[in-house]
This record gives sequence, structure tokens and C-alpha cells, in this order.
Amino acid sequence: MTSILVKGGIVVTMDPNRRILEDHSVVVEDGKFRAIGKTSDITRDWKADEVVDASGGIVMPGLICSHTHLYGILLQGAKLDIHPPSDFTQILQRVWWPVDENLTFEDAYASALVGCLELLKTGTTTFADTYSGPNSIEGVLDKIAKAVDEVGIRGLVAFEAAERHSKEEGGRGVQENARFAARVKEDRRSKATPLFSLHASFTVTDELIQSTRRLASNYGAPVTIHTCEGLGDLQHNIERYGKRTLERLRDVGLLGPDVVLAHCVHVNDNDLDIIAKSGAKVAHNPMSNMLNAVGTAPVPSMLRHGISVGLGNDGYIFDGFENMRAAFLIHRAVSRDPNAIDAYTVLEMATIRGAELYGLANQLGSIEVGKKADLIIVKPDVLPTPLRSDSVVGHLINGTEGRDVRTVIVDGRILMKDRAVTTVDEAEVQRKAQASAAGLWERLRTVKPQVDLVT
Ligand SMILES: [Zn+2]
Repeated sequence: MTSILVKGGIVVTMDPNRRILEDHSVVVEDGKFRAIGKTSDITRDWKADEVVDASGGIVMPGLICSHTHLYGILLQGAKLDIHPPSDFTQILQRVWWPVDENLTFEDAYASALVGCLELLKTGTTTFADTYSGPNSIEGVLDKIAKAVDEVGIRGLVAFEAAERHSKEEGGRGVQENARFAARVKEDRRSKATPLFSLHASFTVTDELIQSTRRLASNYGAPVTIHTCEGLGDLQHNIERYGKRTLERLRDVGLLGPDVVLAHCVHVNDNDLDIIAKSGAKVAHNPMSNMLNAVGTAPVPSMLRHGISVGLGNDGYIFDGFENMRAAFLIHRAVSRDPNAIDAYTVLEMATIRGAELYGLANQLGSIEVGKKADLIIVKPDVLPTPLRSDSVVGHLINGTEGRDVRTVIVDGRILMKDRAVTTVDEAEVQRKAQASAAGLWERLRTVKPQVDLVT
């Protein structure tokens, strides 16, 4: 493997000491960080196969997207001819479930390719994806993994099991995750790793939750489930089980440190106690929550409860910097408290906390010697104020966007240099995705909304 010397710049390490180092350099070798030090020392002591100039820029860990649906990118710009939904359940019934029904294996591959490309080009180096497609189940994770490996970033990939149509459908979804987990156990070369995913408590029975729990534990893979995203989730459990969602998920035995709960918008203090006690984590998706008009997750309160919170895009806007900015702003707006959340905490959510969510904090999420070498170099086009150790976090949250990411290294390999992607043909990836999206939009013109729920 080659060695790379990332020379100069401000290194935002995200290490436990929160070190932010001006004019430092980083040495990457055999896929790992080997040295971090003053540029003068590093250039004197280390010879590398390749030198990447980061002077005038920011060197930081690649962003980690804690929750996404790569296929969601196929809806960018789509104008769907539907009766306007009045709440989140209707958004699922009239938009997302018809989309799911109409996805093909080819759509899964094309959207994963372009989704990974978009993530790479905006600085995300690891993501957690859940794919939902009741008519494209068996083998679909191989298609998504192929796209992940072609682009070269890291992805936890899952099929989102649900019993919207039948119990059998739910079982097939979970089995696809188990099949993929078994495949990865045999062959660990892929950058795609297994994740188990359940859609949401209102589309799965206790039996499916329990069988998923068992299989995930057997394979040592994390589990994720949409939790209290819309009010319908909470109402379903109260009406049918006489419990709030978190109480049901606890009682059925799902919760644990390897569980990532997506959203958690409609949660009270008792629910947060349940999450904190179980060690489960939360993936916060502020822009998706705004889009779907579901409300705002009480993230400041989660943090006070000691819950680890990561940042996701939920298949909506893939630029991690935009999602960070939204997380930074929304909690101030909602709480009317200018101290609701600070910029560094948001940066942690998009890096080291994201790694923590999926049990990867010992390998990813920060620039520390011995960790896997995933880093990005950010150089804003226009810099109106000084870039220094005391201003860099403010720049990242308030002034930077994904297009300012110039160079991306994953596993010690340069995937993008000066905005040119080295792994895939960008034009070809976009052609494939556009063809898939056009076909999907056409098929969606004739669909009837899904109204089935597990009863
Ligand atoms: Zn989601």
C-alpha cells in the first residue's frame, strides 16, 4: 500500500482532547494514520509516496452519516401527482411506499452508485443505509455493496424489513440482512458491512422484532429502526399495545447498545430514560424532519440524558455540512435558547458520535494514530475571516458546504483529489441514475397509494 503525507493546514482531530492543530501534517500508511505532527517535523522525518498539499485548508475526519436511504436520491426534483398528504403517515402511504413498491434491483444499484458519489463529493466517508423495496429483496444488498465498493467509501447496508403486506415479506427482509451478514463473514474485503433494519414499530410485529434481534446478535451486527418519527408511531403502540413506542421496544427485548433509533421526535423524558438506560443511540435527521413536518427531536435533552446522538440525512439532502448547519440552527429556533446546542457538539455528531453509534469509534470518526485513515480536506472558496484554531469550527458549521471538500481519503486511498473522483466515471454514474429515476417517475404516475398497516 502507498503512503500519503497530507501536508499543512489546520487539523481538526476530533480526538478525546479535542485537539485542533495549526500547521500540522498527517501521515497515512497501510490504510491507517501513522503520525500527526508539526509540518516542519513531519516533512523532516517522513518520506511518503505521495504528498497532498492541504495548506490553507482544514484537515478533518470524513463525515459519518448515521441514517440514510440512498434510493431516496432518485426522488430529487420529482414532481409526483398525488393528493396532498396531511400528515406523516399519509406521506408514507402516498409517496414513500409507492416508491418502495416500484424500485427494481437496477434502481437499487444505480441509486447506491450516485448516492455514494454524492456523499463522497460532499465529504461523507461512512454511512448507514437502509433499503426498502418489497419487490426487490433477495440479493439486493449485493447490488448496493457493489456500488459501495466501486465508489470506495464505507457503508453499513441493510434491507428495511416490514410486514406492510404480509408476515412473509417481513421474514424475507430480515433474511436478506442475515444472508448478507453471512456473506461478509466469509469475505471481509468489501467496504459494505452488515446492518439489520426494521422499518418502524407500526409496520412490524413483536415476533419480527425478536427474530431480528436474535439474528443481529448472532452476526454481531447493529440494528436500526425508525422510532417515533411521526405521531402515528406513538399512537399505534398506545392503541394496540397500551404502551408508548419505547416501552414496547424495551419490553420486547430490542433495545441495547447496538441499536440505533432513527429520529425519536415524539419522545418524553421517560422515553429518554429508557433509551439512556439501554445504551441505545439516536440518529438525528433535522432536515428530513423539517421536510416531513413531523416536529423536532429533543436533541439537547437527549444529550443531557447522556444519549449518544449522530447525524443522518434520511435520504433527503446528502450534504453533511448542510445537515450539520440544520442541526445547529433548529434547536435554537425551537427552544428559543441561544445555548441549546454548540457548534463543536454538532461537529461531534457528524464524526466521532456517528462512529460511536455503530460501535466503530475505536476505528473511525477522528484523526488519531492507529485509526483507519479516512479524512477530508476542506478549502472554502471564499474565506472572509481568518481561519485559525479558534475559528475553524465556526467556519465548518456556519460557512462551509460539501462542495468545499477538495480531497477525500478513505482507508488510506485517495478517492477524490481536487474534486476529481478517482474511482468511478462520474458522468456514467449520473447517466445510470437519471435513467433509473426517469423510469421510476414514469411508473409512479400510475400507482395507487398504499394504505395497509399491520393490524
Ligand atoms: Zn429513514
